[in-house]
Amino acid sequence: MHEQNHIPVFDGHNDMLLRLYNMRKENVESLFLEGSPTMHNKLPRARQGGLAGGLFAIFPPPVEKFELDTKTAAKNFDVPVPPALDLGDAQASTIAMASILFRLERASKGAFTVCRNTGEIRAAMAQGSLAAVFHIEGAEAIDTDLAMLDVLHAAGLRSLGLVWSRSNAFGHGVPFRFPGSPDTGPGLSDAGKALVRACNALRILVDLSHLNAAGFRDVAALSDAPLIATHSNVHALCESTRNLTDWQLRAIRESRGLVGLNFATGFLRPDGRMRADTGLDLMIRHLDALLEALGEDGVGLGSDFDGALVPAAIGDASGLPRLLAAMAERGYGRALIEKIAWRNWLDVLERTIG
Ligand code: ZN
Repeated sequence: MHEQNHIPVFDGHNDMLLRLYNMRKENVESLFLEGSPTMHNKLPRARQGGLAGGLFAIFPPPVEKFELDTKTAAKNFDVPVPPALDLGDAQASTIAMASILFRLERASKGAFTVCRNTGEIRAAMAQGSLAAVFHIEGAEAIDTDLAMLDVLHAAGLRSLGLVWSRSNAFGHGVPFRFPGSPDTGPGLSDAGKALVRACNALRILVDLSHLNAAGFRDVAALSDAPLIATHSNVHALCESTRNLTDWQLRAIRESRGLVGLNFATGFLRPDGRMRADTGLDLMIRHLDALLEALGEDGVGLGSDFDGALVPAAIGDASGLPRLLAAMAERGYGRALIEKIAWRNWLDVLERTIG
């Protein structure tokens, strides 16, 4: 059990920057560096849990306050998608969150590093500095001429979800629905296809989590990079629109891509409910299925910390060793646990962002 404590974790998805942005406090840096009680992912807990790096998502929130209404969701499992954002509003919030990312790096005095390639991630991890990759979840801040893409890339953007669970100029995200199929509408627009090509050329990871089935098919046909869903689970075990069906998993495997296991209970449980008393056994069941579908090199983690209700058995980033211990109990050897915890992520990133 203690052995797993020394395995670092690279996490495919957290919403810590959104959490800090929503607090709208003066000195958000200290909330992360010293730790705020309401956050899953903050430096002291990250250190405790062996969190060594991850994709830090910037999510342009709706202008009119939209809250994922868990009570309504629990009743009818169908949450309305918020309205589309306009470019100016999305750019304002995206830049504000990017600013928080860079302020954290400055204030951390080396404890937190924004990394632009896999060599920088490895170097940060070796020095015990939390390695952050600049990721955007929903491309609303990018104009269809893709001028903003150049600026964001120059600032360090290395991973981009074309859509969150709403529509934009590039494509359509799945609404949160259970049970439901991800086949919820048309594929990418011409601008969406141009954005995928531009991301390939700039070596920006194209994240498939939240994208609908037709959009996924378009990316699979177009992209020359490994197919990656940073935080999604197995549809056969939990029939959420956000989870991956058999053909999607096959396409990811064929591309030598990766899926990060999402800890959100609503995407784990066969009944689709958001409940903190969800056991680690269910996470292991999804890992078993992902390993079977993708092989040992195609599975990683994508916690959704600070963006979702995760099992109380994990709690926050300090609980990551308990998940690794559950893998060991299930009979996964140390080499496989290391692959899932961080090695697969670094390998696929090396082949994607360089
Ligand atoms: Zn998400």
